[in-house]
Amino acid sequence: MSKPTEEILLTESNEVAKPESVASLIRKMIALIGEDPEREGLKKTPERYEKALKFLTSGYHQNVDEMVVVKDIEFFSLCEHHLLPFFGKAHVAYLPNKKVIGLSKVARLVNMYARRLQIQERLTNQIARALEDKIAPQGVGVIIEARHLCMQMRGVEKQHGQAVTSAMLGAFRENKQTRDEFLALVGKKS
Ligand SMILES: [Zn+2]
Repeated sequence: MSKPTEEILLTESNEVAKPESVASLIRKMIALIGEDPEREGLKKTPERYEKALKFLTSGYHQNVDEMVVVKDIEFFSLCEHHLLPFFGKAHVAYLPNKKVIGLSKVARLVNMYARRLQIQERLTNQIARALEDKIAPQGVGVIIEARHLCMQMRGVEKQHGQAVTSAMLGAFRENKQTRDEFLALVGKKS
């Protein structure tokens, strides 16, 4: 008479003792190899196994909603006011919706817009808009740090020879936490 009681307890404490569960299959398997699934050491093994297997295969039920960041993309451009180089680094990030884009493609995108007569603000915005058009992400952030020879060679802004521009779209504009995460990842904020 003690066995049924045990089974009831087991069923109650684990809630899922559906006939179709992974745990119930494992319990059956243990019995099929000639072991006693009810003995102390094996009693909870089916549930443990199910839990572990679910974790190890949780990729099936996950969406990629982690921020993708491409840091330190080098670029060289020409200032359209003076026809002199400005150059530096672009940091590009996005929060995927469904599509992602290859990292090398992000760098190519930066260079496609950089290799034109530009101003830094427009370059920054064009990269952000292009990414938005291409993969319709939840948000895009672009930061560009650049040195302008037209300024440096003429002695303008000799102290702070770097100009920093940014474009924040979607989640990067609306959500401070997202924006801060991006800024921290590119070392712009503690
Ligand atoms: Zn210039």
